Amino acid sequence: VRLDANQDRIPETDDANQARENSAFGYFLLCTRRARLKKIGQQVIVGDRVEIEEPDWAGGRGAIAQVLPRQTQLDRPPIANTDQILLVFALADPPIEPYQLSRFLVKAELTGIDVCLCLNKSDLVTQLEQQQWRDRLHEWGYQSLLISAYAHTGLEQLYNQLANKITVFAGPSGVGKSSLINYLIPDINTRVGEVSGKLSRGRHTTRHVELFELPGGGLLADTPGFNQPDIDCTPEELADYFPEAQQRLATQRCQFNDCLHRDEPNCVVRGDWERYEHYLDFLEEAIVTQAHLHQQG
Ligand code: GDP
Ligand code: ZN
Repeated sequence: VRLDANQDRIPETDDANQARENSAFGYFLLCTRRARLKKIGQQVIVGDRVEIEEPDWAGGRGAIAQVLPRQTQLDRPPIANTDQILLVFALADPPIEPYQLSRFLVKAELTGIDVCLCLNKSDLVTQLEQQQWRDRLHEWGYQSLLISAYAHTGLEQLYNQLANKITVFAGPSGVGKSSLINYLIPDINTRVGEVSGKLSRGRHTTRHVELFELPGGGLLADTPGFNQPDIDCTPEELADYFPEAQQRLATQRCQFNDCLHRDEPNCVVRGDWERYEHYLDFLEEAIVTQAHLHQQG
């Protein structure tokens, strides 16, 4: 359990100060779950805010008595209270595949967590190309942050975006997620070493996930989130995850309340926006997924 020096009441005793000095991270307690939590099957996951009973400051140990309600929850990786998903794509090598980007955006939207879109490898394309992508994505309803993990451009803005938030990365492979994580948390490798020494148990287990403190504030998960996103929402809610559709529905209504915006008469969503084709494709996928769920009961 990582204690938040600003929000958690940490006594100004010698023992507490000792616990602080023992840790490279600030305040840190190794905690077990109270039996009552185990009995009701209450899991504790990374990012949880918890109540600790009987902290043993000198020994650096405590017991978790309660898990506070989660604001958000991601399953892969399992992290509670994530404030934003930083979706990373590359402007080149590999170039942006609009359909794939759309899929990631919709998946991110359907977690209910804020999305921040980041386009890496700006060093590989011209200013004009950068501007064209920025404009195009603006049409989709998204601001994008153009950066280069290599040339170190745009990273100041990225730090600001990450400050005081819990962030999880997502994006296809090869776009520079690991490079960015290594850059943002310069001493990640030494710190990882310390953790494995101190708290043992592997960083190399598949479900391992850890939040790292950023130099400018904020916490960043060391493990990227989803990278093969399926569209597993209901057909009816899919339009909620397209800003373009939402924009249309903000001022007008379709004739039918349960309009799926395909071929229904007097639909205000159907139209000549770029991602309408993606919408139709994902709609088919959502319909198939729902049919499967019904079959399984
Ligand atoms: P990941 O699969 O998303 O974690 O991507 P990696 O961090 O492994 O990066 C994939 C490749 O892109 C590596 O060869 C990196 O050196 C390279 N790369 C990462 N960021 C940049 C960048 O900003 N510019 C350029 N030109 N290459 C980059
Ligand atoms: Zn409609």
